[in-house]
Amino acid sequence: MRTDPNIIITGTPGVGKTTHAETLAERTGLKHISVNQVVKDKECHEGWDESFMSWIVDEDKLLDALEEENVKAGGCIIDWHGCEMFPESWVDLVVVLRVDSSTLYDRLSTRKYPEAKLQENLDSEIMEVLLQEARDSYDEQIIVELTSNTTDEMESNVDRIEAWIKQWKQDHAADGEGDGDADSGQ
Ligand code: ADP
Ligand code: MG
Repeated sequence: MRTDPNIIITGTPGVGKTTHAETLAERTGLKHISVNQVVKDKECHEGWDESFMSWIVDEDKLLDALEEENVKAGGCIIDWHGCEMFPESWVDLVVVLRVDSSTLYDRLSTRKYPEAKLQENLDSEIMEVLLQEARDSYDEQIIVELTSNTTDEMESNVDRIEAWIKQWKQDHAADGEGDGDADSGQ
């Protein structure tokens, strides 16, 4: 039983996952888990793919590493461009960030991605690949799609998620108090 929720922030590279996760972690005290960093630090990969400028992830090792960090106990903001690998029982909310193609193009161009990777990511955003992955992996009721084109949108997203966390904690604190309480009359 978690006392703090686990939230996945997912979406195509460049949508704003890390910026959202860092801001939320600062504001709420929840822990920002940069899955990319875990892959790198705990060597959950089979090497670096130069043409795509990304690690070739070993998902079994990665899940073991996240188990070691006790992610399933709650209180984590999981920042990763995918969501299907996490056990459903770990996850309380899945936020899929979305951006317009032209905005994403500008953001990825400043990262100096190779053309193939830039194009693949733009296609992925247009085809809603990460949103579909979320829908294939989790109950629709825990998925929220939010746009992240501007800083104003980001502010309002963070406010919304923060309010959701507060509500979740209230609801689950009430559950906890009810457990085993002989005087609750239930
Ligand atoms: P991701 O982690 O999804 O790859 P980042 O959080 O690193 O994305 O954001 C990519 C770039 O876009 C950063 O320079 C960040 O400052 C900027 N950015 C992210 N979200 C927004 C937003 N909602 N409005 C304006 N700029 C943003
Ligand atoms: Mg990031």
